[in-house]
Amino acid sequence: MRLPLAAAFMAAGLALATTAHGAPRDPAERKMVEVVRAEHGRNVELLKQMVLVNSGSMNFAGVERVGRMMRAELEPLGFQVRWIPMAEAGRAGHIVATHKGNGRGKRMLLVGHLDTVFEPDSPFQGWTVRGDIAEGPGSSDMKGGLVIMVSALRAMQQAGTLKDADITVVLTGDEEKPGSPIALARRDLIAAGQASDVALDFEGLSREGGRDTGSIARRSSNSWTLKVKARSGHSSGVCMQGVGCGAIYELARIIDTFRRELPEPNLTYNVALVSGGAQASINPAETAVSASGKANIIAAEAVALGDIRTLSPEQDARVRAKMEAIVARSLPNAEAKIAFADTGYPAMAPTEGNRRLLARLNEVNRTLDLPEMPTGDPASRGAGDIAFVSFIDGLVGLGMAGQGSHAPGETADLKSLDVQAMRAALLMTRLSKEPRPAR
Ligand SMILES: [Zn+2]
Repeated sequence: MRLPLAAAFMAAGLALATTAHGAPRDPAERKMVEVVRAEHGRNVELLKQMVLVNSGSMNFAGVERVGRMMRAELEPLGFQVRWIPMAEAGRAGHIVATHKGNGRGKRMLLVGHLDTVFEPDSPFQGWTVRGDIAEGPGSSDMKGGLVIMVSALRAMQQAGTLKDADITVVLTGDEEKPGSPIALARRDLIAAGQASDVALDFEGLSREGGRDTGSIARRSSNSWTLKVKARSGHSSGVCMQGVGCGAIYELARIIDTFRRELPEPNLTYNVALVSGGAQASINPAETAVSASGKANIIAAEAVALGDIRTLSPEQDARVRAKMEAIVARSLPNAEAKIAFADTGYPAMAPTEGNRRLLARLNEVNRTLDLPEMPTGDPASRGAGDIAFVSFIDGLVGLGMAGQGSHAPGETADLKSLDVQAMRAALLMTRLSKEPRPAR
């Protein structure tokens, strides 16, 4: 229930937050700005209701319930909404919703996710608001983005610009903990990308030094495991001719050479877990390592696991080759093997097409009297679903600004809700009028 007093208070706060915007000259654009403003209270209420539903990736009932809430918003706007179950990938499922337009403008793919990192057993649940800051699991990552998507589409509908727009919405239920095999878990997203011209990702808005920035790239995330075997023996002979130094020295050589030889822009390489001894192993979930041995035994086995994050498939391939070459330079009587998991997230490179999309968004900013958004640092962002459709132009971060995502205490900046919805509504309207590229 929404109290009239609370609604009035919200409306007053909103007027303050939006006075900086210019009124667009185009009547439809002016209408969209008005609708977003008028519906602020409704949108905050929708966000609250979504945050109050726990939708940790493994809480299938909760993920599906947030899916039904999105269905209830999208169907009245003329979207055909499907729920795609993902039991075979070990996850809840996805929402795929399509809106048929006039078939002439750019076909847009709106990307988002229904799940959060906070499972039902997390102590971080519920919803609180202090001024313009809302605190709750998934408030900015990314239920805020779902509400911004809905707000923008409603504004387009009321301004009469939605009817011509060809839009597909894909909301995955497992972005924070992708199902496996990944080819199945992202099958529907990739198919939607192949039938679209541009991808708009409603994950959180990036800010640098208090300034909104545009994101045109996301780094990949791929894990690797390193397994070393070496000749064992009595410790009294360690590193002697014909014996060797054992598996742990070899492992140390490899990861320290990574540290010294790998550094380059936009790359990170993390060593997360290591162990070594007479026996060493990694558990199947790759969340724990174990080892056993004795002080007087030369280590026969060592294992390590970590990840690399890169900005393009080329960088990824080059860095992998470099790591393999380092691994191959084994010490005497030791042998090491590195394996890269293919279950990770690909990179979305900062292409010219993505840059042009950001330029379109900055045209919208000029219309709204908002400052230009510079290109953000891709290294500051995690991997994301939009990278699976990086074969079309894409723009990241059309969602809610906030802080502390993935940690208890995550907040959303409710002031960003209206600004972001206005930006998205105008951008989508303009893209729907641009001729689609020939294929
Ligand atoms: Zn997210």
